[in-house]
Amino acid sequence: MNLIIFGPPGAGKGTQAQVLVEQRHLPQLSTGDMLRAAIAAKSELGLKVEGILAKGDLVPDDIVIGIIAERYDQPDCAQGAVFDGFPRTTAQAEALDAMLAKRGRRIDSVIVLEVDDRVLVKRAENRAKEAVAGGGTARADDNPETVANRLAVYHKNTAPLIGYYKAQGKVASVNGMDEIGQVTKAIAAELDRRT
Ligand code: AMP
Repeated sequence: MNLIIFGPPGAGKGTQAQVLVEQRHLPQLSTGDMLRAAIAAKSELGLKVEGILAKGDLVPDDIVIGIIAERYDQPDCAQGAVFDGFPRTTAQAEALDAMLAKRGRRIDSVIVLEVDDRVLVKRAENRAKEAVAGGGTARADDNPETVANRLAVYHKNTAPLIGYYKAQGKVASVNGMDEIGQVTKAIAAELDRRT
């Protein structure tokens, strides 16, 4: 099974992807995590993308498509994967479809977490505050300007992909403003209905 967990920044994609990883025994392929790891390792890739992530802009398509293709060919993806934060542009979605088709596979479902912008802004503020208070992990891109840009980039480049996947009949929308356990249940119900 190949799933995409889709939604705006701060919708809870990572959290729900982790649940799917445990329940469905699929690896989580998060381009954001891979890019942050490259930055932490100060690799050539990390140095190249650090400024882009800090601003909340998108890393060029060829870079993320390349890291996903390399990661997907690892043995733990033999039964599929949960894509988290990828694809984010139409070019990435098309490349993903082509990559899977070449391997005789396809995307089975796209779980769309729906969360209003004002809730996303509030969540980012809370995360930043918690980090200051020492209670959470600070993300360099959770400052107000970067959050605003990440949301704008989402609406402009990424949200149109919902139409791309709707045309393929693959979209399952879930209310991402419910509490975490409720969202998990709604996702499970959608997947059971579809598989
Ligand atoms: P995320 O953790 O998914 O919110 O990603 C953090 C940042 O990494 C984004 O704001 C982008 O700068 C970059 N990024 C992650 N995934 C992608 C992608 N699929 N395409 C382009 N940039 C990405």
